[in-house]
Amino acid sequence: MTSTAITAAELLTARHLINGEWLGEADTERLNPARPGELAALSPSGTAADVDAAITAAAAAQPGWAALPAPSRGAILIAAGNLLIERQTAIAEDLVREEGKTLAEAKGEVKRASDVLRFFGSLGWAATGEVLPSGLPDTTITTRREPLGVVGLITPWNFPIAIPAWKTAPALISGNAVVIKPAELTPLSATHLARALQDAGLPAGVFNVVHGKGRVVGDALARDPRIAGLSFTGSTNVGLGLQEILNGRRARVQLEMGGKNGVLVLDDADPRKAAQVVAVGAFGLTGQACTATSRVYVTPGIRAAFLEALTAEAAAYSTGDGLDIVNSGEARMGAVVSRQQFEQDQAAVRSAVERGATLLHGEYDGDPSGALFFPAAVLTDLPFDDAAVTEEIFGPVVAVLEVPDYEAGLAAINDSRYGLTAGICTDSLARATDFAARAQAGVIKVNRPTAGLDLNVPFGGVKDSSTNTFREQGRSALDFFTWGKTVYTGV
Ligand code: ADP
Repeated sequence: MTSTAITAAELLTARHLINGEWLGEADTERLNPARPGELAALSPSGTAADVDAAITAAAAAQPGWAALPAPSRGAILIAAGNLLIERQTAIAEDLVREEGKTLAEAKGEVKRASDVLRFFGSLGWAATGEVLPSGLPDTTITTRREPLGVVGLITPWNFPIAIPAWKTAPALISGNAVVIKPAELTPLSATHLARALQDAGLPAGVFNVVHGKGRVVGDALARDPRIAGLSFTGSTNVGLGLQEILNGRRARVQLEMGGKNGVLVLDDADPRKAAQVVAVGAFGLTGQACTATSRVYVTPGIRAAFLEALTAEAAAYSTGDGLDIVNSGEARMGAVVSRQQFEQDQAAVRSAVERGATLLHGEYDGDPSGALFFPAAVLTDLPFDDAAVTEEIFGPVVAVLEVPDYEAGLAAINDSRYGLTAGICTDSLARATDFAARAQAGVIKVNRPTAGLDLNVPFGGVKDSSTNTFREQGRSALDFFTWGKTVYTGV
């Protein structure tokens, strides 16, 4: 009997998936942000040649894939979604190790990825075109949606399986082939998506993964003329650079970038409920979501009660290792993803305090183990132009500022280079309706946290948050990955 000894390192190893083969020497280490020194993942550092091979494979596989009946494509997506649920706990544990969030959050994310695959899989049975009347006799007009061909996807670390899934699923159901470059910090989560698709029977070459550095692999992907569309989620600077490259050859580009999402809390709101709405948006997922709440404007009558309730909420966000269920079973916030991000969170709080802000919660006195746990931070009394109010921090830090009235609050919400999500806490239907119409953001939340969306709704923003052309998620996600054709048929 032969036994195969699988070392722990092998279990944590991600490889490129090119034309159905797992390739590349995994030489890049990713350490667990909650456990200093512990290996979380190993992955290969891809080259432009790997990207070229992946695009070549995708281009060869795409016509056959598009020729399959859409329900057959959908059946593969649904099977892959089912596999993700079967593997939910194992995948979530890898996700916690490499990203740092809590196990509950990671399990929820794997479930979301699974649901997304099944949602788009079921759309294999849905109509994608229209029948239109013609002014000509005996003539029928129909519209069709055609796949772009080979599409590139570049994804970030904060939802390392859900974002790859919500870009991949609409791309594949529409008949495209995919080359994805996952974030360097989280190579295993995307690998699990790739495995599920492969195990579900996706033909070789239809979905390819190339790991590595953004400025090498991501750049090569964006520059290849065979990439007909690129969907990116990440930082605004990188996104705008990619847009120039894609615009240069008039290829489609979809960018989801930063946010500085504000909530306006009016005197007529319940301060405790408003504090809960803000806390979930600000501290959930360790504040590492582009839809996270990071600035709050309060009117004078509710300020004191709201701040008291928000401080109590922040105190309930204990931090801990997402996998240490015994010792941090109560932990509601996992680790910050990286030392660099941690220092960014710390610098934002420090510099605001130096400029006169009051830190109501979130005093950080250091973790001797070096684990990257950052407390939920509530800042107030800070100037409107403080970086903590104007710049994206991407951590569990929220700034609370007083505004004299609704109009001033709305103006403050809109005074931002970003426009992803915006919220209002109020009992006034008139105010809520006015806010929904006038707030400059792609998603409006009334009495609900700015972070978190259902999988069936359009997602995207305005200004420097998004390209504001094609929306992600829900049926609207299909628009980016297809082009329209009008067909006249006479008899
Ligand atoms: P984040 O701050 O979330 O890491 P980035 O924009 O740096 O945001 O990264 C998001 C994704 O974009 C990652 O997969 C990263 O590797 C990739 N990326 C970073 N720089 C570039 C670049 N110059 N060209 C293409 N992709 C890039």
